[in-house]
Amino acid sequence: MTRRFALMIDPVTASEERVDFGDTFTMVDAAAPALSVGELSTQRGDGVFESIGVIDGHAQEVVPHLERLAHSARLCDLPVPNQEQWRQAIQVAAAECGDGEAVIKLILSRGVEHGPTPTAWVTAAPAADFSTARVGGVRVVTLDRGYDLGAAERAPWLLLGAKTLSYAVNMAALREAHRRDADDAIFLSSDGFVLEAPTASLILRLGDRFVTPVPNGGILHGTTQLSVYEYLAARGFEVGYDRVAASVLPTADAAWLVSSVRLAAPITAVDGVSLPVDAALTAELNAYLLSPRD
Ligand code: PLP
Repeated sequence: MTRRFALMIDPVTASEERVDFGDTFTMVDAAAPALSVGELSTQRGDGVFESIGVIDGHAQEVVPHLERLAHSARLCDLPVPNQEQWRQAIQVAAAECGDGEAVIKLILSRGVEHGPTPTAWVTAAPAADFSTARVGGVRVVTLDRGYDLGAAERAPWLLLGAKTLSYAVNMAALREAHRRDADDAIFLSSDGFVLEAPTASLILRLGDRFVTPVPNGGILHGTTQLSVYEYLAARGFEVGYDRVAASVLPTADAAWLVSSVRLAAPITAVDGVSLPVDAALTAELNAYLLSPRD
């Protein structure tokens, strides 16, 4: 069982080389206040984050998560994180995780207002139990995201490809899904294409081909989707990135929401229309995602 754990990081520049970054970490009481009231992550959601799945003390897909953290930081004009420093912080946090499933969060915020440096910290905590969603699946509704596929390129200040701390919209979409008697949501672009879920990527099966919406700036490139594609490609399936019209969604032969802690949840219905579920393949995917991966 994992106990709650928190580590503050004194971020160094991306180019600094050291064998041991231990003296840049400060363990803090995860239950005690640790942030200043001037902290811009809490005042404005101004920062970026990652959630990493941990299985029996092994942090999954660390490099893809660190690469996405760096990508998000670049998009937000935050100092690019030192990969080795953060890798070591993840290692320290993972060592605090016991058997079973846990989640490590990496947070890099703009820091304190008028302060000299960003604020950075890592936490570990027990993971929520997603076993019901992995087996029983999820009913989803489609919701308009309010921008078209060209928005990310046309308006980079919307930070659409960055995993920012500003998840209020994503959480509002989940509440709207619950109001509509569904478990989750799938965002659609205003020009009628499938994007992603508020906290997950979407993978569709169309015959023997697996498709996910192109992560061309408007959505996150999911680390779990990348792992699932690696597995499916090794099994001989064709995998690809496409523009997926909303009309394709209810015609899929199967579909999944995938993310680092939930893993693969089969979609059982879209806007009240049932979707076929491949229980055997879903179980295979989750068994793979629960195995140690780097
Ligand atoms: N898209 C969004 C908006 C997310 O918040 C997440 C994960 O939280 C994902 C996709 C899936 O990313 P990953 O598989 O790396 O967890």
